[in-house]
Amino acid sequence: MLTTKETERCKQELLAKMKIIAETYGWIRASRPCATALIQTLSSTPCDRQVKYKLENRASLGKRRRFDSYYREKSEFATGMIVERVKSALLINGLDAAIQTEERSDVGRHDIVIALGSPCKVYANGEARLRIEVKGSLGINLEQISRYLLDSSPLILVRVMTRHVTKIEPSALQPYLLFMLRELHEKCDRILSSKFYTIPGNACFACPDDRCPHNRYRDGRSEGLVTMANDDFGEDLVSFFRNLSYVSEKTASTVVEELRVFQGQREGHTNFPRDQLAGEF
Ligand code: SF4
Repeated sequence: MLTTKETERCKQELLAKMKIIAETYGWIRASRPCATALIQTLSSTPCDRQVKYKLENRASLGKRRRFDSYYREKSEFATGMIVERVKSALLINGLDAAIQTEERSDVGRHDIVIALGSPCKVYANGEARLRIEVKGSLGINLEQISRYLLDSSPLILVRVMTRHVTKIEPSALQPYLLFMLRELHEKCDRILSSKFYTIPGNACFACPDDRCPHNRYRDGRSEGLVTMANDDFGEDLVSFFRNLSYVSEKTASTVVEELRVFQGQREGHTNFPRDQLAGEF
């Protein structure tokens, strides 16, 4: 039976390897390795050659596609509404709550702190207890969800358009997490030793490595604004607002339910560890 301890050990080893990669390729910001960007890059494609190219050319990697800000707005607006509902539900249920932004100001002492960000984090008794990730559009990035599972607190995934609200327990996915971490270890080793694979496939259509003979990216083909057709816009907007109260209510009740369980296990300390706001992944 795999344990969270083994996964944590493997994660720490991966972070140590990431540090070497960050130092090798200059992926350092504010004296810290850009761990999130690195893991995103490593997981972005099965082609090791493309990963290596991206590591070596970070500064020149421009965005080739512009996405309609409507998609981002929907997620941000939905997150705000869900947090409003969560706050109301916490108060109604006698759970003292505060909102913590990334700003390191003194907010006093509260039993529960909601740290706005992506994902939104809920701290109780000074520990990260829950995270809430809101998807306002139909798209879902499984690489991101998979990466979020490397933190141990449960993740509530909300998909507004499909009315999905589901809680994922990383502790129940230890075999998968260990598998993912080991594969990332192997990939880091291949990149660092330059014994990497070149794997042509769909990734060749959006690959920045223009020296690769398999490259199939064509300038201009993907540079337009990515948005939805006019007929779909109204329908999408109506569905979004129609589903928002339902997913907000469901998320709030899941948060209250979880916190009640934690409340029963309370040990009495209430100091909020601000440095936990900066997650590794
Ligand atoms: S063009 Fe294709 S095979 Fe070549 S580096 Fe890019 S993804 Fe890999």
